[in-house]
Amino acid sequence: MKHFPIFLAVEGRRIVLSGGGDAAMAKLRLLMKTEAQLTVIATEVADDIRKWAAQGKLRIIARAMEPGDALCAALFYAANEDDAEDARVAAIANAEGALVNIVDNLEDSQFITPAIVDRDPVTVAIGTEGAAPVLARAIKADLEERLPTSLGVLARIGKTFRHAVDILPMGRKRRDFWTSFYFGSGPKALEAGEHAVIPALETLLDAHVLATDKQGSVDLVGAGPGDPELLTLKARNALDKADVVIHDRLVTGEILELARREAIIIDAGKEGFGRSMKQEDIDALIVQHALDGHHVVRLKAGDPTVFGRLDEEIEAIEAHDIPYRIIPGITAASAAVANIGQSLTKRHRNSAVRLITGHDTKGYADHDWKALAAAGEVAAIYMGKKTARFIQGRLLMHGANPSTPVTIIENVSRADQRIIATTLVEMEPTMTQANLTGPAITFYGLAPRDAQANALKLKEFA
Ligand code: SAH
Repeated sequence: MKHFPIFLAVEGRRIVLSGGGDAAMAKLRLLMKTEAQLTVIATEVADDIRKWAAQGKLRIIARAMEPGDALCAALFYAANEDDAEDARVAAIANAEGALVNIVDNLEDSQFITPAIVDRDPVTVAIGTEGAAPVLARAIKADLEERLPTSLGVLARIGKTFRHAVDILPMGRKRRDFWTSFYFGSGPKALEAGEHAVIPALETLLDAHVLATDKQGSVDLVGAGPGDPELLTLKARNALDKADVVIHDRLVTGEILELARREAIIIDAGKEGFGRSMKQEDIDALIVQHALDGHHVVRLKAGDPTVFGRLDEEIEAIEAHDIPYRIIPGITAASAAVANIGQSLTKRHRNSAVRLITGHDTKGYADHDWKALAAAGEVAAIYMGKKTARFIQGRLLMHGANPSTPVTIIENVSRADQRIIATTLVEMEPTMTQANLTGPAITFYGLAPRDAQANALKLKEFA
């Protein structure tokens, strides 16, 4: 670590900046968030800076910097956008004991200004020692999205309530209380106005005091393919009573809306920087919340028993003797086949249907390609976007008819559902060209009913 992060006390202290152009303005916008006394020294000063001076936010000394100007300053910024002038003023400030930053000159700066996520009094500073500003921006954007804008106000109000929370035992119980406040009931209460926050804290505290001795449990719930109307009543009831909802990436916002207002919602599939939460971490999260006496709803897309890594979660839950239930859901294949007017099985066509995955944790998944290649076979292929060419190749290699119908259904049951009808031989590049961005399921051996009717008609006329 070449730079050590600290938070500097600047209330009432001097921060001096030399420069009056764009670079100066960019820094001043940040500095004006502090409670420091700001002084700008420059021969030419932009209108905005003048405006800020008129509003009493800073003081302007309208001349070039001279020795003595940085006396007693905690920080000094050289922002003249002129190397020679920056070097000159930096030398003065340095001699006068201020910590010096030269804008866009990492080498000669004694400190650097991080990327800041501001939820005052909660502040996140992100630095990459100048190595990867793009990364800093990406992290900042991710945090901006993840931290409710209300966090600062909530932190300020929460601070006044800390003593009341002493009633809860130290450690996890207290941490849980604050988590559900900051990420659950707090932001919701704030929608009604700041006055609603303290009553919400009181209600939440009562609930947590009562829950301290409660036995926790887990419902492993199928959320269906996305349309809230395809939830089971059992799933709805479970969501209605949830203390904590831990959901997959594919579960839609509309469904999460149905969770109890006070529930803590945790996205276990968050792909912040391209990676999702590890399965062991999800297992631990479920167990931890249940041991805390919470009713945990583990919400999975479709049916939890289909490609849902359900057994691993059950094993973790059972290892702690936590009671659990499995609440089935409508799997993507069922919803998708309904939307193309077909059946998964049909007399005289296929008396069996396979649910297969395109890839597993180790890569491409292998299947009984020879059996699948026989006429009339039907398979629903989950997670088959990236492996379409592999599957197509295997099936053709094992003698499948190239004109076997293939139907891809993206975003099943959602407003942006797309149905793409093709054949095995054209499956790729059709899928790549379709530029699928949502979850998609592929039916091998099934065409949409309309397309099939049309094809039959064409044959008759031929
Ligand atoms: N348990 C889920 C499947 C999880 S595996 C279920 O029963 O549906 C994830 C895969 O499911 C995705 O890659 C996609 O192939 C499929 N899938 C899930 N939801 C989908 C949807 N709404 N539309 C299309 N495919 C979906």
